[in-house]
Amino acid sequence: MIETKKLSDRVFILKDRLDCYANLILGSEKALLFDTGSGSDDLKAAVEEITSLPLLVIASHGHFDHIGGSIFFDRVYMSKKDRNIVESYELEKLREWIDKNYDSDDFRQVKDLDFDSFTLGDIDGLIVEMPGHTSGSVGVYLPELKLLLSGDALTPVMCLFFMNHGTIEDELNTIKMVQKLDITHFLTAHSDILFSVSILDRMKDCLINSKGKKFHKYRYPRPPFSEGYFYLHSMEDESVGVIVSER
Ligand SMILES: [Zn+2]
Repeated sequence: MIETKKLSDRVFILKDRLDCYANLILGSEKALLFDTGSGSDDLKAAVEEITSLPLLVIASHGHFDHIGGSIFFDRVYMSKKDRNIVESYELEKLREWIDKNYDSDDFRQVKDLDFDSFTLGDIDGLIVEMPGHTSGSVGVYLPELKLLLSGDALTPVMCLFFMNHGTIEDELNTIKMVQKLDITHFLTAHSDILFSVSILDRMKDCLINSKGKKFHKYRYPRPPFSEGYFYLHSMEDESVGVIVSER
């Protein structure tokens, strides 16, 4: 079952059973769905309960918990830089994890993201490249809402140990790019918190000062069970840290 949270008349968050969050933005003429979740629940039906507007669907990156739900849609756009991730999936194994009835043999709905802006009517969206978490990670900058949808590219605990990940330097450059945008908040794909941009300085400090610090071995508790090393930077209202693949 999908749980829906309304942040405003324009912004909704849809969470599936495996704790994957998609963002739904309503414009005057179209709606944007950013990410499709794991595919454990019918996300399209949940969207249609909220709006009947024509829908544009964009995936933040190629990890399965963001494009698994693409089976419910005719077309989902994703950066071609993450195409190799999608081609690596063993669907039989993924079915065991999600649902034996998961009905897809491929990802033919997933198309290359071949535009860098779009309009929902009274709200425009700009695609911003956010390499770090994966090389093909993208965000959607919504100037009218002063909001950035960031997928996994900007989580307070930055994950640089899954397939197609980049370096600490890549992630640092992505944060610096985001700090130049005229936004007050950003959303991520594994939380319903509307993060203030004020946390970005702490995230940057974490990346800059993690060198030589104490890292702990870490294993992600769900498929693909990737292993890495976790550095906890600080624990104020929100914990900030980074997980890297190698020390
Ligand atoms: Zn991811």
